[in-house]
Amino acid sequence: MTEKIIDAIVLKSQDFKDNDKIVYLFSPAEGKFSAVLKGVKKASAKLKFAGEPFCFAEFTCVKRGDMATITNAYQKESFFELRNDITAFYAGVSALEIVSAFAQEGVADPALFVCLVKSLSLMVQGVNPKTVLAHFALCVLDNFGQKPCFETCAECGAKVKESVFCFDVGGVLCQNCQNDFAMPLDEGVRRVLVNLSAFSREQLATYKMSNVLADKTLHFLNDLFEKNFKKINSLAQLLQL
Ligand SMILES: [Zn+2]
Repeated sequence: MTEKIIDAIVLKSQDFKDNDKIVYLFSPAEGKFSAVLKGVKKASAKLKFAGEPFCFAEFTCVKRGDMATITNAYQKESFFELRNDITAFYAGVSALEIVSAFAQEGVADPALFVCLVKSLSLMVQGVNPKTVLAHFALCVLDNFGQKPCFETCAECGAKVKESVFCFDVGGVLCQNCQNDFAMPLDEGVRRVLVNLSAFSREQLATYKMSNVLADKTLHFLNDLFEKNFKKINSLAQLLQL
C-alpha cells in the first residue's frame, strides 16, 4: 500500500457500485490515471467536489494492487463556473476530452497540464471560449508533434493561399500537389489557423473573430480529430448548439 499526494484535474467520472465513482484524472507528474472515490454519492459526502469534471485539487491517493483510491482532496482551483454558460461549458468539456484522448497513462506531461489549466482559466475569465478552444486544440496537436502546417504545402513546401487540405497527408496542399482526396479549406479558416498557431495564449483576449468563422474553424478541427486521431464527442455537441 502506497500513499501519494498528486495535483490533478478531473477529466470525467462515472458511477461505480452503489455509492462510489471512478474518477479519471490528469496530473502533470503522472499523466492520465483513474481512482475510486468511495461513498461520494451519499448526501453527506465531503469529497463530492472531487468527483466532478473541472475540479483541480491536490488528491491523496492510496494504491492497493492495481486500484487507486482517493482518500482525501484539497481543492486548489475549480473551473465549475464554466457550467453557467452552455457554450463555455461545452468548450471546457471538449478541452478535457481532447486531453483524455491524447494524454498517456503514467507519462508526465507538465506542458499539456499548464496548457489545459491556463486555457480553462481564460474561459472562466470570459475570453471567447471558441477562440480559446481552437487555440488549445492547436497547442495539443503541437505538443504531440501532430500540428499541420497551414502556411506551406505539405508535399513541396511552397507557400499556399487558396488551398486544399488533405487529411491523408495531414496538411495543406498547393495547386500543383493537390490530389483526389483533398478537400477545399476555407481561406478565412486557414488564416485563423495560421494566426492562432502564432499567438500566445495571452493574445487571445484581444483576438476578434466572428461566430461564423469560429464555428467554421471548430468544424475543421472537429473533422481533423475525427479523421486523423479520435472523435471528440463534446466538440461535435458544441457545434450543434
Ligand atoms: Zn505543393
